[in-house]
Amino acid sequence: MEKAVIAIHGGAGTLSRSNTSPETARKYTEALHQTLLAGQAILAAGGSALDAVTEAVRLLEDIPLFNAGTGSVFTHAATHEMDACIMDGRRLDAGAVAGVRCVRNPILAARAVLDNSPHVLLISDGAEQFAREQGLEIVAPDFFSTAERAAQLRQARGQEQVFLDHDVPVPPISPDTKFGTVGAVALDSQGNLAAATSTGGMTNKRPGRVGDSPLPGAGCYANNANVAVSCTGTGEVFIRMLAAYDVAALMEYSGVSLPEAADRVIKEKLVALNGEGGLIAIDREGHVVMPFNTEGMYRGVAWVGDIPSVGIWQE
Ligand code: ASP
Repeated sequence: MEKAVIAIHGGAGTLSRSNTSPETARKYTEALHQTLLAGQAILAAGGSALDAVTEAVRLLEDIPLFNAGTGSVFTHAATHEMDACIMDGRRLDAGAVAGVRCVRNPILAARAVLDNSPHVLLISDGAEQFAREQGLEIVAPDFFSTAERAAQLRQARGQEQVFLDHDVPVPPISPDTKFGTVGAVALDSQGNLAAATSTGGMTNKRPGRVGDSPLPGAGCYANNANVAVSCTGTGEVFIRMLAAYDVAALMEYSGVSLPEAADRVIKEKLVALNGEGGLIAIDREGHVVMPFNTEGMYRGVAWVGDIPSVGIWQE
């Protein structure tokens, strides 16, 4: 068994290096680093992969830089509708919520669905009611709004397009402000795998639109037999491809290694369907991959006992 490890992402997209100031890059790097330290500490103390990914994604949801929780993108109706999923590789247990508007941390609602309900996916009013009953923090709908996201929506509406977070072409307030869906995957000291993904979706999406992030097998998947995966990118394509599960299926049925399976999914199959994005994944031996077919993806990895490493662009 390899050492316990956690990997995280803060979304993929056209993160132009030339438009990113060192100060902005530092803010993202620092946010990723601190999140990795928190996840790593849970694993180092013998905590579960499930708890490590829950906490990492909860922290990322609370950072307005990323498109999840506070800082979520706007729908066409200038509202926020958030999706999240968590999966436990031990028994393929999963919990997810979609279209929630007032739950401060959608990943905690997803975790509560996993832990305390017989269901896998709750949506909208029903998911919010369940979160209330579970004692989770409920906030006003504008809690999630930021000026940068409002500017992105104006831009996207003007062009009558739906944008993947990082791809809104014109700078909002600061020319180098970029944002992203978040996710985490982990392997703990017991050999258990877990994955979590949380998002505000795509800028200017139709109210009611649900992406890949809350769907087990599409944007999130974990199976102790092979791999834990969290995706980011054009949700509609990831749904059609069952992207996260496809990595596991390639490993299980074709016997290919994790690097080969992940590259096939992101660099061949996703590209063939004009999809953009990336994923992070850990196999049961602790190998970590973070492929993407965009200019950049906010990402990082931390093995227990090692210094975390983070990246934004292609190496
Ligand atoms: N996959 C997310 C969605 O389609 C968006 C993203 O990853 O930025 O909702």
